[in-house]
Amino acid sequence: MPGQLFIVAAPSGAGKTTLVSLLIGNDPGIHVSISTTTRTPRPGEENGREYHFVDVQNFREMVHRNEFVEWAEVHGNYYGTSLQWIKMEMDAGRDVLLEIDWQGAQQVRKSFPEAVSVFVMPPSLEALGERLSGRGTDSVETILRRIGAARDEMRHADEFDYVIINDELSRALDDLQSIVNASRLKYTIQCQRHAALFAALL
Ligand code: 5GP
Repeated sequence: MPGQLFIVAAPSGAGKTTLVSLLIGNDPGIHVSISTTTRTPRPGEENGREYHFVDVQNFREMVHRNEFVEWAEVHGNYYGTSLQWIKMEMDAGRDVLLEIDWQGAQQVRKSFPEAVSVFVMPPSLEALGERLSGRGTDSVETILRRIGAARDEMRHADEFDYVIINDELSRALDDLQSIVNASRLKYTIQCQRHAALFAALL
């Protein structure tokens, strides 16, 4: 039975990465895709763990070889998701989660219309600004650019199936886990997972 595909998007600073790492800590059935990016690694980031870090030329070659199910320019850097990896995981029956932006989400929906998409919102613009400054690893210029970009990102919230307001982390985590749980209980998914039972009962 193929696995399910989840997309989680958010403006930077909405707490998406923390939320997703807590989710996968609770739910080992979900595998998070490691994107390829041309962004410079932040302190503490490791190649192959947070991202596969490549240069622009390499990224362009990967685009030409159609290796990405989606790719986009975000905050001046390129990011892309491996099609082969997603297919491999889903074909093996594992659920896959993509942490990508709205542009990537639009492209993924074209290839995987059944993907379940979730948008994470900060509780206010002020909270978003505080969280972006609190990270302490980016320049003021970068932070200001990201606040502007966050507003652009949030204008696409209506394209997503679900919205989580990340006011309190534990509640936001419950919300995300509930979406995952409910998606796994969809009729079509249950039919495939319990084929023998359905054949016997229906
Ligand atoms: P950061 O550089 O702060 O880790 O991520 C910046 C933005 O790029 C975030 O909104 C993140 O979701 C997005 N992003 C990360 N990986 C991908 C990807 O593979 N594709 C797309 N379209 N966006 C990505």
